[in-house]
Amino acid sequence: MFKKILIANRGEIACRVAATARRLGVKTVAVYSDADAQAKHVAACDEAAHIGGSAPKDSYLRWQAILDAARATGAQAVHPGYGFLSENEDFARACAEAGLVFIGPPASAIQAMGLKAESKRLMEQAQVPLVPGYHGTDQDPALLQREADRIGYPVLIKASVGGGGKGMRAVDRPEDFLAALQSCKREALNSFGDDAVLIEKYVQRPRHIEIQVFGDTHGNCVYLFERDCSVQRRHQKVLEEAPAPGMTPELRARMGEAAVAAARAVGYVGAGTVEFIVEQPAGYDHPEQMRFYFMEMNTRLQVEHPVTEAITGLDLVEWQLRVAAGESLPLKQEDLRIHGHAIEARICAENPDNQFLPATGTLAVYRKPAHVSFQRGPVRFDDGVREGDTISPFYDSMVAKLIVHGDSREQALARLDDALAQTHIVGLATNVQFLRHAVRSASFAQARLDTALIQREQAALFHQQPVSLPLAVAAAVAHTLVQERAGETTDPFSKTDGWRSHGQFQRRFAFEDGDAHVPAVLAYGHGGGLRLTVGEGAHAVTGELVFSAHPAASASPLADAPPWALDLCFAGERVRATVYMQGERAHVFTPQGARQVVEVDLLAHAGDAATEGGRLTAPMPGKVVSFAVQAGEVVKKGQPLAVMEAMKMEHTIAAPADGTVTELLYAPGDQVAEGAELLKLAPA
Ligand code: ADP
Ligand code: ADP
Ligand code: MG
Repeated sequence: MFKKILIANRGEIACRVAATARRLGVKTVAVYSDADAQAKHVAACDEAAHIGGSAPKDSYLRWQAILDAARATGAQAVHPGYGFLSENEDFARACAEAGLVFIGPPASAIQAMGLKAESKRLMEQAQVPLVPGYHGTDQDPALLQREADRIGYPVLIKASVGGGGKGMRAVDRPEDFLAALQSCKREALNSFGDDAVLIEKYVQRPRHIEIQVFGDTHGNCVYLFERDCSVQRRHQKVLEEAPAPGMTPELRARMGEAAVAAARAVGYVGAGTVEFIVEQPAGYDHPEQMRFYFMEMNTRLQVEHPVTEAITGLDLVEWQLRVAAGESLPLKQEDLRIHGHAIEARICAENPDNQFLPATGTLAVYRKPAHVSFQRGPVRFDDGVREGDTISPFYDSMVAKLIVHGDSREQALARLDDALAQTHIVGLATNVQFLRHAVRSASFAQARLDTALIQREQAALFHQQPVSLPLAVAAAVAHTLVQERAGETTDPFSKTDGWRSHGQFQRRFAFEDGDAHVPAVLAYGHGGGLRLTVGEGAHAVTGELVFSAHPAASASPLADAPPWALDLCFAGERVRATVYMQGERAHVFTPQGARQVVEVDLLAHAGDAATEGGRLTAPMPGKVVSFAVQAGEVVKKGQPLAVMEAMKMEHTIAAPADGTVTELLYAPGDQVAEGAELLKLAPA
């Protein structure tokens, strides 16, 4: 076994590899860019080398810097992770030339599988089933059009060098073909520097089922069963699971053997994945009717490898290191077994409600579910970030992977839902809520999997508010009270802005929910109970507010106030809520989901309104109680001018600057609308 390896990657996969290396007693060297100087993967390794600027082309793609770092630190081997240089045959060769072991397949295998068209020609010879299509070298547009017409529409045009869901165009009608071809070629040239394409029949409602394979340098090759990665957005995976629902031992064996044949055809060594597209014929009622076709082979460890680790109980990075060090595969095909069911969810910094646009920002709160790492446990959480880290625009938007394992799919699903509920991220948009809706959708719950799942279930997936507004406001109000009680020894109602009226204390709050203004009034009754009214008029919700508070498991140093777990009862709803305040924004997490409301500081905003160009306006609808000044009076900044009452609370309106009162526009007792000008002040 190696004594020291260099990990030529970042983020979660660099941390993942480092964890296994540490367990095996192998020292690790991290490489990092400017943006990653303080990154978790740097801390996870024994040594680190700076390799350049933040953009990947200035660091993680700079082989020379990486090879220099390996030489300088005495690393014997290089693990490329996934992405970046992992499927670059020139880098694999350069490692060998520098006397380093590349922890991956031979450069020739990477090359053979690197171009989708070429790999299909090879697979054809190896009798691996292919999607009906054209993968020839002749790229004459007229010929490509004829081939598309022959295959029959819809067809899919794919960049031969494509990857990551890029460089693909579906075409429904022959008359659209040439335009789609041009646009696909443009994208391919821009993204990959090569515009060769292939054409495939566009399989309707297909499933993506892939086989994990492993080869060694002694001629052994096995398959570690399948993963279903059908739940995709923009041809990119979102949820992955193993085994594939509906799979039979016979079909598994046929697909596994086809994958091993594919690997053997290119002399494969190490971890690889053969991706198949699986057709479910109309009205199909038996898995044996599923037809599978080779799509591509990924010649590296895959993002979703943990689900395979969960069901086999194996550490695939350990296998990679052993094979790269020249050992034989630890197990034979007949020794491999499937235990239970595993599902992975990719947690990404992105906004699902806005076309999954990537998000950047700081992880102000980053609370993970209770978990174990790198073992076959019920919940595993793989990440490369820590609370306080910044998600920068330079790299992938994937923040973490949540992997659950259960005796059955049903149990794994329940664990996934629960673990997602315990994943609290504040500071940037993530897909955590979206993942929960996806996991709970009828299609996913019932394992009706295909690549159109997200589109089919969109009504249940996007723009959802799993927490009611009154409940979110109640949680925010309760959190404020708990904060105050924690900070003071006295009852909050005896101070601050409570207003006593008819033997009741009343306190007024205001929230913003999107564009809506939501007032809330808290009444402190004779018996010591709290009565909360959220909203006004016909939409008002009133009820007893009952809660108890416990400090939340981990306090975030960055959020303004320490979080509390609140057991809360309000208006017929009972929930455990955790609230994080970020300035005025309350992030409320409950087992049902999360919601944000903005708490408006009424007094501060009354001041804001008053300062606008000498106009003095009502901060809220209410009644003018009194004026403290008369027209013509000279006033000093901060001097009280008028008193207003709204929702049984008084507000004093103070002079925003020195000046002269020129006119009073209302009389005591008048009702005024929000924003109404109360008096005029000529600044001095
Ligand atoms: P799969 O492994 O299932 O094919 P992807 O194609 O999404 O999944 O995985 C490869 C992608 O991961 C690359 O395209 C790259 O953008 C991204 N990637 C590469 N390195 C990292 C990293 N260290 N952390 C997160 N994402 C990465
Ligand atoms: P990439 O290199 O970007 O991963 P793939 O060839 O693996 O490209 O395809 C990515 C995804 O696109 C697949 O997982 C599948 O959802 C979809 N796809 C690919 N080929 C077809 C096809 N012939 N018909 C329908 N969908 C396809
Ligand atoms: Mg693929």
